[in-house]
Amino acid sequence: MKPETIALHGGFDCDPATKSVAVPIYQTVAYAFDSAAHGAALFDLEVEGFRYTRIGNPTTAVLEKRVAQLEGGMDALCVSSGQAALHYAVLTVTEAGRNIVSVPQLYGTTHTLFAHILPKLGIRTHFAKDDRPESLAALIDADTRAVFCETVGNPAGNVCDLEAMAAVAHRAGVPLIVDNTVATPILVRPIEFGADVVLHSLTKFLGGHGTTLGGAIVDSGRFPWREHAARFPMLTEPDESYHGLVYTDHYGPTAYLGRCRSAFQRTMGAVLAPLSAFLLLQGIETVALRMERHVENARRVAEFLQADPRVVSVSYAGFPDSPYYPLVQKYLRGKTCSLMTFTIRGGYDAGTRFYDALKLFKRLVNLGDAKSLACHPASTTHRQMSPEEQRLAGIGPETVRLSIGIEHIDDILADLDQALAAAVGS
Ligand SMILES: *Cc1c(COP(=O)(O)O)cnc(C)c1O
Repeated sequence: MKPETIALHGGFDCDPATKSVAVPIYQTVAYAFDSAAHGAALFDLEVEGFRYTRIGNPTTAVLEKRVAQLEGGMDALCVSSGQAALHYAVLTVTEAGRNIVSVPQLYGTTHTLFAHILPKLGIRTHFAKDDRPESLAALIDADTRAVFCETVGNPAGNVCDLEAMAAVAHRAGVPLIVDNTVATPILVRPIEFGADVVLHSLTKFLGGHGTTLGGAIVDSGRFPWREHAARFPMLTEPDESYHGLVYTDHYGPTAYLGRCRSAFQRTMGAVLAPLSAFLLLQGIETVALRMERHVENARRVAEFLQADPRVVSVSYAGFPDSPYYPLVQKYLRGKTCSLMTFTIRGGYDAGTRFYDALKLFKRLVNLGDAKSLACHPASTTHRQMSPEEQRLAGIGPETVRLSIGIEHIDDILADLDQALAAAVGS
């Protein structure tokens, strides 16, 4: 089925117990065992079924199947936030003494996780100087266990050359992990271009309404862990924390996701609430329609800002002179994401005057809501970065990031116009 259809039907026909057509909210912590033997078989993963909602829940399972199908993956784990997904995704293939290689254009909190939190556990990140595949390749060493990028960087709006990055990772015998939050599987399915693991903050476009936090880890089922057993003993050798289970034996192609759930979700417990899974499923039903409008409105806004003498620069990969334009054609089928940054005449002070004058756009740190949103990264999401790190991430002190919503374009442009007038005069 096509993504538009999967978004409505993926992972669910009707409830087997009640024939409910809407996905029921299974608001339960635990599930009854038929007998001691049944409980033991569930714990040994010998029979299918639910034990405890920290490890799995029927409502969340529908969301997991739907997200996995949308991305063309074999299985998915849904967790309480995008950050929890990022955390587990890296821990599943690393340990103290190992490293990952990453592009520098990252969501601010991801940068903090990689640059400051994981190093305290002995897991380092080598940040490339830019997002060119050869810059990443140059940093891979014997201890590297994954290559990481965002399909479309937040907030830089850069588009990564997924196929080339997958080739770089696979030459080194490690997986490519891709955060596909900003693009969504409606615009690109990174697994089709070689990504091994795809991550989401479901909080953003997939949920789409700014009501619910959630994250997802999708396993392509394609990475040959056994061929690289020396690098990934945590997947190919018995796990003492799970009575000697060997993930590659038990889960086969989805060994990665098996360890993610059995080792990290079980012991760290960043659980998505069943009600949140339901709300995110509701959002996903309309993601394809919303993305169409997001993309079209963003194009109109980018053109409006570009033509306005009060604006100094607009970073939007959909302009033919953008270095990312060919990658937009190749990976996003010509559809540029609705995230953009721009700078206005008059520097930092004019930037904050503009920001304060917005009426329709909400001032906040979020993206991918159906509503139009504006963020000032230097003072908020990317505040923890040094000025140099901010520059590499694609922002300056005056940069404003817009996430264009699905309102009528005339109202969006009118708000931007009046805020520009308030900031620099008309
Ligand atoms: C928001 C975001 C995250 C973090 O997701 P939460 O659900 O807020 O934890 C990770 N990556 C990207 C690209 C994001 O935009």
